[in-house]
Amino acid sequence: TCGICVEKCPFDAIEIINLPKELQNDPAHRYGENAFSLYGLPAPQDGQVTGILGPNGIGKTTAIRILAGELEPNLGRHDEDVDWDDILEAYRGTELQDYIAAVRDGDVTVARKPQYVDQIPNTFDGNTRELLEQTNERGALDELVERLSIGPVMDQSIDDLSGGELQRVAIAATLARDTDFYFLDEITPYLDIGQRVTAARLIRDLAEKEDRSMLVIEHDLAILDLLADTLHVAYGEPGAYGVITAPKSVRNGINEYLSGYLDNENMRIRPDPIEFEEHAPRAASHTETLVEYPDITKSYGEGEFSLEVEGGTIRQNEVLGIVGPNGIGKSTFAKLLTGNLEPDTVGQDPTETSSGQSPLDAGDADLDLDISYKPQYVTIDQHMRVDAFLSSITDQFGSSYWNTEIAQPLQLERIMEQNLADLSGGERQRVAIAACLSDSADLYLLDEPSAHLDVEQRVQATSAIRRYAEQQDATVMVIDHDTYMIDLLADRLMVFDGEPAEHGRAGAPQPMRDGMNDFLANLEVTFRRDERTSRPRINKPDSQLDKQQKTDGEYYYAP
Ligand code: ADP
Ligand code: ADP
Repeated sequence: TCGICVEKCPFDAIEIINLPKELQNDPAHRYGENAFSLYGLPAPQDGQVTGILGPNGIGKTTAIRILAGELEPNLGRHDEDVDWDDILEAYRGTELQDYIAAVRDGDVTVARKPQYVDQIPNTFDGNTRELLEQTNERGALDELVERLSIGPVMDQSIDDLSGGELQRVAIAATLARDTDFYFLDEITPYLDIGQRVTAARLIRDLAEKEDRSMLVIEHDLAILDLLADTLHVAYGEPGAYGVITAPKSVRNGINEYLSGYLDNENMRIRPDPIEFEEHAPRAASHTETLVEYPDITKSYGEGEFSLEVEGGTIRQNEVLGIVGPNGIGKSTFAKLLTGNLEPDTVGQDPTETSSGQSPLDAGDADLDLDISYKPQYVTIDQHMRVDAFLSSITDQFGSSYWNTEIAQPLQLERIMEQNLADLSGGERQRVAIAACLSDSADLYLLDEPSAHLDVEQRVQATSAIRRYAEQQDATVMVIDHDTYMIDLLADRLMVFDGEPAEHGRAGAPQPMRDGMNDFLANLEVTFRRDERTSRPRINKPDSQLDKQQKTDGEYYYAP
């Protein structure tokens, strides 16, 4: 051994010279001999939002259970009797001393929002109002309902809520409680950017105005940046050990995380940095047209939602990003493209003159394109193993090409033998992305592939999707609300706007810069660039930069 670890080297390597100082100490908890060990704990502070950034399976929930007093940590001495006094002794002199004393004395109350909101209907029978009223301890429920736009679904059964509605109800239910410590495990899945920013502001308000302590796990980096005061990075080997670093400033924490190197810990967590282009990508000039579609309208009936689509061109080989609020018609557009829905009217078809034949007739939405579609809410839960499911989709399954391009970047190897029904949200998402890309089609349409993926997985999924488009001559359309993912992924952008649930308008695909400006102008959100890394960061509303960029019409990319 290297002389520091008494037991097995957690890195499976003995030539490590700079073992991070966290690992030289005892773990906070070890589940058993050779079982998962957690090193370090986050330190929530009154009046602050503390973020945790790190992969799934790294011990975040374990840490929370300890801070909530649910799990008595054993300081790695799993075969000894360790009590809270020993634990307090171990943390004497650290930021956690007072907190742990309070946990020992049973003085800490906790409200917690679970990661997988989709599971709430399994544990609660009743409507939204009934659920929320149980949690109305601070008298703040009305304001939460209003700001999170939950009003329209107050009398709806929890069983009938969409993922985005469940997410907002779960956030409201957590923040309505009257406790010392609030823990939110991911706030963004299924929410659009406007809703993400609102949720972030509500959490900040509760910390600042009511002096509560908030701990948030979040993988949407633009939102995490807006939300948190300090940040713990979590790293390690998922399933084997996890290290929660001492708190960093949010800016440094995210920058170091993206660079792949943690400065204080002297630790490389990824071979390559994740980098953003300051300037919009130049439009590729020689791409061929996959399809030109005409103006289309679709309404679900008198007084129901209606959508107007401006005709446009989808290019062979491109990754087209699709952005816009929830309830604005993005899925409706997808269904028009896939032929699952029939349009009401179809305008002048731009290809009519050359081919003499419209690819899209009223009442017939068949664009003659094979589309492979990954829906927003992934519900593959047959009793079937992952490998059997994927091999039923493609005869490429198991080929070295498929393994390198699909299975590896989507980290499927470890879950191949599991049952679909037993997968976690993030695992299910990766299988669904793989299934979508493995099908042979002209157009691949992915609706919110980022949901429940950690940052690492988002980056790997992004590069898998991009490489796939390049190498397979495939055209990919991606609907997503994670700005970083859209930035890294898309060549061009299609922007939806209008009045959610009433009427929507879909603009034609346009270059990234124009598209981002259109989209963010609707939201009145501007981004500046981090000086060190060029990473986009949301400006404070009405700050000097915010005002200047709005005047200049430059919402995202530096001019
Ligand atoms: P995260 O919240 O970061 O996804 P968790 O804290 O849930 O991670 O889990 C970290 C690791 O600890 C996982 O590998 C998990 O299997 C393991 N683990 C969690 N609970 C137990 C337990 N009660 N006994 C043994 N191992 C556990
Ligand atoms: P997005 O994908 O942008 O979230 P959708 O296309 O799913 O938006 O939905 C747009 C609006 O149309 C929503 O208000 C939704 O409730 C409504 N809608 C969707 N499908 C139907 C339908 N079959 N009948 C009536 N209204 C629908």
